[in-house]
Amino acid sequence: MPGVIDIHVHLREPGGTHKEDFSSGTAAALAGGVIAVLDMPNNTPPVVDRSTLDQKIEIARQKARCDYAFYVGASMENATAPVIDPHVAGLKMYLDATYGPLRLASLAALLGHFESWPRNKPIAAHAEGLSTAVIVGLAQLYDRPVHICHVSRRSEIELVRRAKERGVHVTCEVTPHHLFLTQDDAPSLGNLAYMKPELGTQADNDALWDNLGIVDAVASDHAPHTLEEKQSDSPPPGIPGLETTLPLLLNAVHNGRLSLERVVELCHDGPARIMGLRPPDDSYVEVDLDATWSIRGADLLTKCGWTPFEGMTVYGRVRSVYLRGTRVYEPGKVLAAPGSGRPLSLA
Ligand SMILES: [Zn+2]
Repeated sequence: MPGVIDIHVHLREPGGTHKEDFSSGTAAALAGGVIAVLDMPNNTPPVVDRSTLDQKIEIARQKARCDYAFYVGASMENATAPVIDPHVAGLKMYLDATYGPLRLASLAALLGHFESWPRNKPIAAHAEGLSTAVIVGLAQLYDRPVHICHVSRRSEIELVRRAKERGVHVTCEVTPHHLFLTQDDAPSLGNLAYMKPELGTQADNDALWDNLGIVDAVASDHAPHTLEEKQSDSPPPGIPGLETTLPLLLNAVHNGRLSLERVVELCHDGPARIMGLRPPDDSYVEVDLDATWSIRGADLLTKCGWTPFEGMTVYGRVRSVYLRGTRVYEPGKVLAAPGSGRPLSLA
């Protein structure tokens, strides 16, 4: 199948390399069948201007093992001065509190971004609950593409469905954790289940599956923190996901909940369409749909070394990954060197 394009990852560099870095995060990507990642801007410092973007471009040039592009963060200061660059896939806008410093709390700045951000690149929004209505309303008012990240609630997905039916230029993604976990899993997971958006109810989960036909992409929202940080008294939100997204979806194929064609649409075609990107040539993943294995945090390549899916047995395993004609992953081994990844070709 075509390689996975994950449009929502946090590789934590710069500023959080004890959690993950571009080398470890992109190794995890390849092990999960992911050939390209779009990295989020809520770093320390946040990527909101030319110098912080240049710093990240240089880090990726030296360390990325898969292909990549970036989001720039929407801040108060850059609302009327968009940071545009061939490496930038979109503008990330945080309307609700999450991990990092980028919450956009000013209406004037919000409107400034909608007026000044280039129309050929999406505005990607972290917008939960009422904020979902704000962002859908602005997409309609400005008649421009807006992508809603990690939709997780029944009311949100139903609003997105209505907006799409009315021709509003909205797209949306869902995460594997909102597809395969609910609040019922939270007691046994403890702090490891803490994420933004938080896990939904069974009714929310049912609504995501019932409306999967209007979902444009599955994205991991790979957001690693160390086990020590997660088990502290003030755990940060976020879980790793790069290595479990495709196996969980292939397991859903095995269980008859999804077709393999739909997995390709959600993990490759949809992401490329939303972001106006050209996937790398000769890049694909060999998967074994009948292989069964147990997910173990200790076996993962993400630096954080844990997973909320610990011990889960799934059908479907990544065997080999090819990027631009070269084999970059074979079972248990990443073959791509740091720095061999390339910037994605964007619209
Ligand atoms: Zn995120």
